[in-house]
Amino acid sequence: MTPREFLEAVEKMPVFIVPTGLLEWHGDHLPLGQDALKAYGICLRVAEKLGGGIVLPPNYWGRPGFSTYVGTLTFSDGLIRMLFWELFEQLRKVGAKLILVVTGHYGPCQVDCLKGVADDFNRCHPDVHVTVQPEYEGVEVDGETPADHAGKWETSMFWYMYPHLTVLEDFKPGRIEVYNYPDAPYNYYRENSVWEWREDLRTVASRELGRKAVDIIVDHLVELVRRKLEEREGR
Ligand SMILES: [Zn+2]
Repeated sequence: MTPREFLEAVEKMPVFIVPTGLLEWHGDHLPLGQDALKAYGICLRVAEKLGGGIVLPPNYWGRPGFSTYVGTLTFSDGLIRMLFWELFEQLRKVGAKLILVVTGHYGPCQVDCLKGVADDFNRCHPDVHVTVQPEYEGVEVDGETPADHAGKWETSMFWYMYPHLTVLEDFKPGRIEVYNYPDAPYNYYRENSVWEWREDLRTVASRELGRKAVDIIVDHLVELVRRKLEEREGR
C-alpha cells in the first residue's frame, strides 16, 4: 500500500487483520510455512468479503510447536508476548480500532500466550479491541472441528489456497521417520522421530473439502468482525 491508500483504508474501516503462524514441520507434502500462509490466505479472503480492513504480511514467530522437528523455529513466551504487545501498540498508533489476530498454528502454548497478551492489552487500552483466535474456533464443518496437524483439514485448506505449494506426491502413509534435532532451545520435550499418519491424505484430503472449510471459516470471521464493530459503535 502507498501512504495514501493506507490512510484511506484506515479511514474507511479501522480494522487490522494479523495472520500469524510458525515455521514448523508439516509432513513431507506441505511447506514449513504452512500455518502462517494458511492464516494469510484466510485473512485476505476475510478482508475481501468484509470490503475493508488491512491485512498484515504473514508473521512466522510463535511458541512450540514440534520444536525438534526438521525446519521448525520456536520462541520463548516472553519474546512472543513482547512482540505482539508492541505490534498492538504500533497498530493502535496508526489508527486501529479493532485488531483480529488469526493464528494458523495451534496448541495451548501458542493460543493461551496470544490470548493472554490480547486480554492484557484490552484492559490497558479500552479505545482498541484485540481479538485472537485459531481459525477453527467457533466453527464446524460436517460436524467436525476443522483442525489438525498437517492432516485432512490443514492439507485440504492449504491445497485449496496454494495448489502450487502442495506436494501430495511426497506423502507416504503410515509410519514415517522425521529428522529430529538433538537439541532445541525453548522446547518442552523431545519429539518422537517416528510420526504416524492415521489417514491416507491422498484419499481423505481434497481441494473441495478445503474450499468448504475455508468458506465457513471466512464467513465466521467476517461475522465476528461485523459484530465487534457494531459493539464498538453501540458504546
Ligand atoms: Zn499447522
